Parts: sequence; C-alpha cells; structure tokens
Amino acid sequence: MSVTRLQYPAGFFDGVSAQRQQVEVTIAAAGLLITKPDASTVWWPSEEIEVTDRGQPVRLCRKGRPPQELIINEAGFLEAARLGRESGESSLAAKIVALLAILVALVWSLYQFVLPAIGERIAASVPVELEERFGRAVADRFAPPDSRIEDPRAQEAVEEIGRLLRAELGRTRYQFRFYIADDPMVNAFAAPGGHVVIFRGLIKMTRSPHELAAVMAHEMQHVRMRHVTRALLRTLGIRALMSFIAGDTSGLVFDVAALAGDMHFRRNDEEHADREAMRLIQRAGFDDRAMVKIYRRMARETADAPGPLQYLSTHPEMESRVETIEKMARGGAPRALLPGRKWPPL
Ligand SMILES: [Zn+2]
Repeated sequence: MSVTRLQYPAGFFDGVSAQRQQVEVTIAAAGLLITKPDASTVWWPSEEIEVTDRGQPVRLCRKGRPPQELIINEAGFLEAARLGRESGESSLAAKIVALLAILVALVWSLYQFVLPAIGERIAASVPVELEERFGRAVADRFAPPDSRIEDPRAQEAVEEIGRLLRAELGRTRYQFRFYIADDPMVNAFAAPGGHVVIFRGLIKMTRSPHELAAVMAHEMQHVRMRHVTRALLRTLGIRALMSFIAGDTSGLVFDVAALAGDMHFRRNDEEHADREAMRLIQRAGFDDRAMVKIYRRMARETADAPGPLQYLSTHPEMESRVETIEKMARGGAPRALLPGRKWPPL
C-alpha cells in the first residue's frame, strides 16, 4: 500500500520579483496551495495550471498575469497532483468522452422526441395535394394499377359504401378513392390523402356489406385524422424534414412509397380510428355489431399473417380494441345496405 504524498518542496517565482523563493506545495482537490517561508499562501486553481516541463525538474506555470512559476524537483509529483502526462491526457479523454456522450444523447433525443414532434407539426401543415401525391405513390406501390380488380360489381359496392360513409364523415378535405387489390391477403390500408386499398382476401371474408363498411370506416378515419401522414413522417424522420425544408419533395415521394412498408401506427391511433369508425358506422345507421364480428374474425384468421401492412395483428392489445368497440356497439336495427346484392361481391 503506498501513501500519496501531498506536500512537496518547490521553487517559486511570484511573477513580481526575479527572486526564487523556497516554498511548500500542498496538493488539494481543486488545485495547489503554495505556502511561502513567511507562511503566506498563494492558491493555484487546477484549471489555471499548465505543465510547461514534464522533465526533471517539473515546471508549472499559472496561466494569466502575473506569470508565476513553480519548479518541483521531486519524482512522483505530477502523478500525485494528477497533472502528469497520463492523468492530464486521460482527463482530456474523459472530457471528450463526456462531450461525445452529450452529443449522442442530443442526437438521440432529436430523433426520439424533437423530430417526431416536428413531424407531427409538419403533418398538420402538409397540403392536401401533397398528401394525395404521396398517397397515390404508396397505393401504386402496394397495389399496382395492373393488379387491381376492375370487377364493376365489387367496385360499385365499395364505392357505394364509401359514398354513404363519406356523407356522414363531416367536413374533411379529402376525396376518397377506393381500390380493390387482387390479393388474397386479409388486409386493407389507407394511404395519405384518401387512397384506400382493400384487398380481395378481406372482401371475401366479409359476410355482409356492413362488415366491409366497418373496415372502410376505420381506414377513412385514419385518413381524416391524418394518422397515415404522421406515421409516414415519423418513419421518414429527418429526410422528410430536410425535403420539406428544401421544398424538394420529388425524392420524398419515392421514399414514402419505399418506407410505407415499415410504417406503424401508434396504438393510440388505432384505438382512436376504431372509436371514430364505430361512431361513423352508427351515424350512417349501419350495423355496429358487424364491426365487432369482422374484427373478431380478422383477429382470429389473420393471427399469423405476415406483412407490415397487416390490418390486425396478434398484438395483445387487439383483444382490448375489440372489447372497446364491443362496449360501444348498441346493436339497433341497421339500415338496408346494398339490398338485393349477392355478398361478397367477388
Ligand atoms: Zn388501423
């Protein structure tokens, strides 16, 4: 066990006279205490101490005026005072590490909190035309025009349901467009700006137009509340931000389409869309129990469906989503919807 010496004899120039004084240097936590022969003291704070010579003897000076100097002819002083090469450098390294850590934390919080927040704000100010452009790109990517079902019976049914829901949606800036994708996946998604894609697999799974209406209402509410645009902006993060700032969104449209697959709604958004969809269904006079039924069936049958655009997932929150809408359902007599049509229309 070694004991670190805290006092060292030293030569001292006080910066005023050329006389070298024999002093005692005491190493303290925040600096050096210099005790002169007459017992008067001089305090050198650590941050003002500069090592000018690490050799033998060690020379230290104090930055600033007057130029004072300490000369210590004792090995081990620098080590003990933590002013030596290694400790000096390691304290610099520690400072750099700390600075980097702060920088990383700043960048991280920028990504985590600031950018999404800015993204939300931007979402609220994205012009509808731009949303429609994004939406078209996304819809075209996930349901290319040549893979859409042009069956007029199915298209008419979807459009009629959409028209009735739209009439009850209240004021909204969006024109809704509905596409049927020739895909067996049980799925539907809303692209920004009102482009709603419904997959063949979903339509085939519905047992009444009311059930399809429930899913469409959910998607339309996502559009109306701009959940999709926000989710995309969150996903795009800084790139979207830069494009918007630069006013060049040409590259962004491509990015939006590419990133849509990674896009996730927040659980809050889903629940919000569910509740608003239920209200819309009820205002339109549709069968609100049908919404509970189709949700149950989809949750069951798409339990292990892959894909980022999966409409309902196996997430445990799905149970609570179904429960929420079930509590809202009143189960009154619904209006006739597409009477006399064979269902499903595919
Ligand atoms: Zn949704």
